[in-house]
Amino acid sequence: MAKERLYLFDTTLRDGAQTNGVDFTLADKLTIAAMLDGLGIDYVEGGYPGANPTDTQLFSEDRKLRTTFTAFGMVRRPGRSTSNDPGLADLLNAKADAICFVAKSWDYHVRVALNTTLEENLTAIKESVRAAKAKGREVLLDCEHFFDGYKANREYALACAKAAYDEGARWVVLCDTNGGTLPHEVEDIVREVIKHIPGDHVGIHAHNDTEQAVANSLAAVRAGARQIQGTLNGLGERCGNANLVSIIPTLKLKPEFSERFDIDVSEAQLKALKHASHALDEMLNRAPNRHAPYVGESAFATKAGIHASAIMKEPATYEHVAPEAIGNKRRLLVSEQSGKSNVLAELDRIGLKVDKDDPRIARLLDELKEREAIGYAYEAADASFELLARRVLGTVPKFFDVTYFDVKVEQRTRNGQGSASVNEMLTTAVVKVKIGNDTLISAAEGNGPVNALDVALRKDLGKYQKYIEGLKLTDYRVRILNAGTEAVTRVLIESEDETGEHWATVGVSPNIIDASFQALMDSIVYKLVKDNAPA
Ligand SMILES: [Zn+2]
Repeated sequence: MAKERLYLFDTTLRDGAQTNGVDFTLADKLTIAAMLDGLGIDYVEGGYPGANPTDTQLFSEDRKLRTTFTAFGMVRRPGRSTSNDPGLADLLNAKADAICFVAKSWDYHVRVALNTTLEENLTAIKESVRAAKAKGREVLLDCEHFFDGYKANREYALACAKAAYDEGARWVVLCDTNGGTLPHEVEDIVREVIKHIPGDHVGIHAHNDTEQAVANSLAAVRAGARQIQGTLNGLGERCGNANLVSIIPTLKLKPEFSERFDIDVSEAQLKALKHASHALDEMLNRAPNRHAPYVGESAFATKAGIHASAIMKEPATYEHVAPEAIGNKRRLLVSEQSGKSNVLAELDRIGLKVDKDDPRIARLLDELKEREAIGYAYEAADASFELLARRVLGTVPKFFDVTYFDVKVEQRTRNGQGSASVNEMLTTAVVKVKIGNDTLISAAEGNGPVNALDVALRKDLGKYQKYIEGLKLTDYRVRILNAGTEAVTRVLIESEDETGEHWATVGVSPNIIDASFQALMDSIVYKLVKDNAPA
């Protein structure tokens, strides 16, 4: 039997942009739109032309995307004609493939918020859909507060949806704007709606106020809806929108959905999902949620020894899907509590063949325990663990030595305009590296001591330079362990290379520069080991 097509609609750039603390630039929006396009998302809603300069500019030219690039805006205002509404004109003139209108569908809101009659609201919907169709656009209607409206006045909510569908809107989208509707209610109501509008013209737009936006989206699909609206990482105001990063793998990997439905996301695109999720976090300067389903660092991590030994034998025993399908990986956490089996499993995963009775395993465990006691956190630093393991097992080549470094931070005061004086911070670092018989000296300026040290260290690594060209630091986190004068600093660095691989390294010291230096060194050495650089 042929599978039915399900459509994905991403609103990260419109509804997601309502998130507290999120402010996309035009360049951000273009990058994210390209990323969503690359993932195989059917519709990308870019924003609200006319509402702000960024969105107006975004829709001022054809962005040449494969996806159906969609502009969002309100239906014409009550009491105006479609030819005399500047907001609607901006929307109709936007360079977009589709227009997604939003309209009230709750009678109470029509009367109180819109201050107009129920009939005039229906006319506004019809005329707006007609005007956009006349412009050659595909048309969607977001029915705001649909579920609350349906409970209050079923006939009227349905009439709003029908008005758009009858005028030729491709999709009528049922919005749970307040996010308070529960999955069984969504399922019941969508089932009723599709008696009036065919399911392959019905969409769901769920908010996460009861942490069920994903469940509500899936419930709507079960009931017959065929378009799902959501955002990357569930971005969105208040508690967020339905998280497409959780929905997509569920649709692709869970037989109830994968056997019935096709989405335009291929297996290869699914493998890029974790990367896309993390790339968005990086752009927003947020640490990725380690516990995010499917894509989090901990989504396939196991700590307890007994589970680890079972996972080694048969991964499916403790995993609901294969981590590789989403571009994630299995992690067996190596920590103070970890047993020998975790360490063995982790060694196996990184490709180090060691007999389980090898005495070096006990040495490695002791070393781990000692280091964790003084603050190292190997659970969060897979690459530093791998290097430590390789060192104890005797297989890390001596690539280079840093024989000297010097970091200087200066504050200079100079006279600014008028009588004001301006303080400037200047940071420089000098690093001496010995490679074989050569000594290389590099100096660099940076926007802080760690940055200057990093730049100087990576400026000239002689014959290793070509290996680290594509290396970049993607996250730098500092934590002070035990308060007071005895405090030590733990630095965690995340790195990425030209292949998109991520790894994390750790350094611990009473001195933040030293801790950062250790983590930086581990990151570089890990990259050389990974690429089989010659000793
Ligand atoms: Zn919304």
